[in-house]
Amino acid sequence: MFNDARAQGYGLFVREGYRTQEEQQQLLEEKIEAYENEGKSKSEAKKLAEQWVAIPGTSEHQLGIAVDINADATKSSSDDVYSRLAENAYKYGFIKRYPSDKTDITGVINEPWHYRYVGKEAALEIYSSGICLEEYIDTLE
Ligand SMILES: [Zn+2]
Repeated sequence: MFNDARAQGYGLFVREGYRTQEEQQQLLEEKIEAYENEGKSKSEAKKLAEQWVAIPGTSEHQLGIAVDINADATKSSSDDVYSRLAENAYKYGFIKRYPSDKTDITGVINEPWHYRYVGKEAALEIYSSGICLEEYIDTLE
């Protein structure tokens, strides 16, 4: 996927891959602290942070099958890379896990950089139907 995108002039890289429980915990704590430094109460800060950082034990990054992909800003804009991924990742078995129009179902804000491997068959189905993983799983039951 990266080789094909790069061959067409895109600059992109994996910013985040596998994370341990400890790393996820640390990320969340840092986010809570950042909100507290902005003057939020502890409970407010926790609530806000959990909108951005998955609660340890629930992050797909802990599964080892999810990646955050960013643009190399010297070669491509974020929008260019996110569009490229949105239209092509399924061919390689990856799906945009948290689309902007599915936040009410996924419970996660739009994350155009976060991709999850589901295999080519499922990825094609999810992409061509315009559904999210939760909706796809419902169709299997
Ligand atoms: Zn991610």
